[in-house]
Amino acid sequence: MSPIPFSFELFPPKTPAGLERLQASVAELRPLGPEYFSVTYGAGGSTRERTFETVAWLREQGIDTAPHLSCIGSQRSEIDEILDHYRNQGIHRLVALRGDMPSGMGEPGDFHHADELVRHIRATQGDWFRIEVAAYPEFHPQAANARADLDHFEHKVKAGADGAITQYFYNADAYFAFRDDCVRRGIEVPIVPGIMPITNYLQLARFSDACGAEIPRWVRKRLEACGDDLEAIRAFGHEVVLGQCQRLMQGGAPAFHFYTLNQAAPALALCRDLGLA
Ligand code: FAD
Repeated sequence: MSPIPFSFELFPPKTPAGLERLQASVAELRPLGPEYFSVTYGAGGSTRERTFETVAWLREQGIDTAPHLSCIGSQRSEIDEILDHYRNQGIHRLVALRGDMPSGMGEPGDFHHADELVRHIRATQGDWFRIEVAAYPEFHPQAANARADLDHFEHKVKAGADGAITQYFYNADAYFAFRDDCVRRGIEVPIVPGIMPITNYLQLARFSDACGAEIPRWVRKRLEACGDDLEAIRAFGHEVVLGQCQRLMQGGAPAFHFYTLNQAAPALALCRDLGLA
């Protein structure tokens, strides 16, 4: 198997200790040669300043950076300001999202879905930015059905996306089926699997329920059996995710996007064992 490109996702830290952890993780991951680091952005601008600071720090290190931009709860003028801000920093790649408004918080704003954001970026910024969008091999939890979700994904790509990064999943067949459906529809952009290392079972189970990612029963059962033994969880989690990545590479995945949660070790171990470093 020949190595494929890869990228790392970070979130903007809230505390000085969190910032130190992020900087230490970037120092460990950067030598592996990722295509870029991406930085998440809270819906309604909730992490705006922290995302800006993290992106600015990465740019100061000379690192290719892809800020995420979630549009729900924002006005057109705020989005334009952010796009100009990034353009002035020489940023050429964005991850364009709808985001999720915390319940009961604020007005939806000028954009309702990610395709509207993509269209707006293309209309106002031309081809300056490479635009990645989100894809859901196990389908978005709010989608009426699988076909409607694929229709919406297709609209988002046709609005001007250059590529997609998937929600994480632990069933490679779901990715292959999604990709094959896209090919049948004539969607040709690369669909990059999002890879979530398994390090903390309870946190992962909670998050997976919310975002609609399925943890297969046999994986859940084995993780439950590990109890509080974090080393055992990490070792088993590594084996599961490594096996999945190997299948994805054999099946022609174009790249990997690792959700690092600002921790270097799990992604480092995966890259090393996949021969990506
Ligand atoms: P959309 O593409 O708009 O889809 C959302 C839902 O609406 C889907 O069910 C879709 O089928 C439906 N839909 C789409 N268009 C229409 C339409 N025209 N009419 C009716 N229904 C429609 N969240 C953050 O807040 N910040 C981040 O930084 C962030 N990063 C992410 C990175 C990746 C790689 C992924 C996979 C997700 C990320 N998320 C982030 C989470 C994401 O914001 C949520 O999953 C959100 O619920 C959907 O965003 P989206 O861009 O996929 O939305």
